[in-house]
Amino acid sequence: MVASPADFPALSRYSGLVQLALPFAPTIESSLAPTRVSPIAPTTVYPLAPTSVSPIAPTPEDPLAPVYFVRHRRARRYLLRVEHDGRLRVTIPRGGSRREADAFVARHLDWVARERARLQTRSQLSFEERHTLRQRARIELPARLLELAVLHDLTVTRVSVRNQRTRWGSCGRDGHISLNWRLVLMPMAVRDYVLVHELMHLRRLDHSRAYWRLVAAACPGYREARQWLRTNGPSLR
Ligand SMILES: [Zn+2]
Repeated sequence: MVASPADFPALSRYSGLVQLALPFAPTIESSLAPTRVSPIAPTTVYPLAPTSVSPIAPTPEDPLAPVYFVRHRRARRYLLRVEHDGRLRVTIPRGGSRREADAFVARHLDWVARERARLQTRSQLSFEERHTLRQRARIELPARLLELAVLHDLTVTRVSVRNQRTRWGSCGRDGHISLNWRLVLMPMAVRDYVLVHELMHLRRLDHSRAYWRLVAAACPGYREARQWLRTNGPSLR
């Protein structure tokens, strides 16, 4: 299926690209298909070299305005994402073309500029603040996770606190739960939602309706928490 430029509303939302984790990189996507959470395996990277020429005019803030294109056989839409380093990642779906991708980018230059500006002005923690917060996270997060695990009659085999760039937490098939130290920067209710989200993966390692029913039962305010993460999550990086 080939998308026409008219199919691309300027929606800012997160894409659910990561199956068993909570992505927090904001993305913009075209609306070719109903939203579904599916892992998208990279197939061909095109072009891979940093020589890829940007269709975006250089700006004083970002003289290189780097853009790179990635083809995903399983992607259903064009996707834009401004990376941590300011590069724009453009995902071309199956059946898509570089020409359409350029047009998609051209239609969303405002969003790209806003996103880059936002990333530049996001809250900056000093080295010392970061160090202190990470120490706190290593103590507080596992303690709270175990508390919630007991409450929901679940057993956590292993928990670690990390400095993930793209997720708030994850749960492996072996029951290992990994948490982002930045959870200590969030309101308690949001942090608890992330912990419950990962804990419920011990029951179901997917994002099926049945899974979300478990989350809803354990964390009735989960919708508000997810909204908070969408709105405020990127500024915590
Ligand atoms: Zn999940």
